[in-house]
Amino acid sequence: MFWKVMNEFQIIKNFFTQQTVNRADVKKGIGDDCAIVSVPPLHQLAITTDTLIAGVHFPSETEPMDIGYKSLAVNLSDLAAMGAAPAWVTLALTLPDKNPKWLKSFCEGFFSLAAKFNVQLIGGDLTKGPLSITVQALGFLPNQHHLLRSNAKAGDLICVTGTLGDARLALKHSNQPFNLSAADHAYLYQRLNRPIPRIECSKAIINLAHAAIDVSDGLAADLTHILTASEVGAIIYVDQIPLSSTLRHHLSYDEAIHFALTGGDDYELCFTMPTSNKTELLHKFRSLNCNLTTIGVITDQPGFILSYQNGKPYNGPTQGYQHF
Ligand code: ADP
Ligand code: MG
Repeated sequence: MFWKVMNEFQIIKNFFTQQTVNRADVKKGIGDDCAIVSVPPLHQLAITTDTLIAGVHFPSETEPMDIGYKSLAVNLSDLAAMGAAPAWVTLALTLPDKNPKWLKSFCEGFFSLAAKFNVQLIGGDLTKGPLSITVQALGFLPNQHHLLRSNAKAGDLICVTGTLGDARLALKHSNQPFNLSAADHAYLYQRLNRPIPRIECSKAIINLAHAAIDVSDGLAADLTHILTASEVGAIIYVDQIPLSSTLRHHLSYDEAIHFALTGGDDYELCFTMPTSNKTELLHKFRSLNCNLTTIGVITDQPGFILSYQNGKPYNGPTQGYQHF
């Protein structure tokens, strides 16, 4: 097909139908007015959508492969935060022009992650305009099993997966480059551009946790959503917050804590759980390639206290990313 004459439908055929995942529960995928799918018996659907805009959600020079990966990853992360198993996605893409190299690379990133979690692209839309990517993800929840923001209880432990603040440091580097070893450069940009949606962790915590959220706007901001929704408070021990050695190497301790509390884009899970479930949870995490750290406790006094373990209060900034 000559690119000049490639219309919307040929782009869909040449790029978006080129996926390896082919699920039995998709009765009609790409190609008709709607997709038709079936939800397994005794399950409910969890549905989420997120838009990524060039220059807002990723630096404009980001590789299309990473944009494709991340636009799916952030949506799968939302499913993970509810305890849902991902199944299908739709993709609404607004492109400034029809650049086949860009499209090929975007699809490579998108479909590589989709294949990893057996997620099928079942439809979407294609329009011309400033680059914008909207993905909708749909996943299954067994009836009565879900992780809400509103279910944290006083006495719960507060846990996070992975490490926090790395994506924020990568963003700082991309705005104002500073010296980084090749290994640190690769690590940080992996953290920014290729977050691992914590689907496996989500499966491990669904029957053990009370409340969960994914950390997209910064730990302080996102944990506040749990506290508000659950009408509880929290004490966070800032010196328990998990930091990568790369973050520690490039920032002072206070800056590292600040990045971990307020940096967005980490896509780790933050959840609360009764103390009595800790042993079982640690056991489940042993087989997962992911750190788990307890960083504080839920209290019945509304409010958010940040302190060091020795009781000294933390007085640094806590403002997370705000869109408006
Ligand atoms: P309609 O005109 O009925 O809205 P479209 O012409 O927009 O349908 O799309 C034709 C088919 O291609 C539909 O099944 C639609 O879901 C699918 N599609 C369009 N754009 C995309 C995309 N970016 N990714 C995946 N599927 C897409
Ligand atoms: Mg349409």
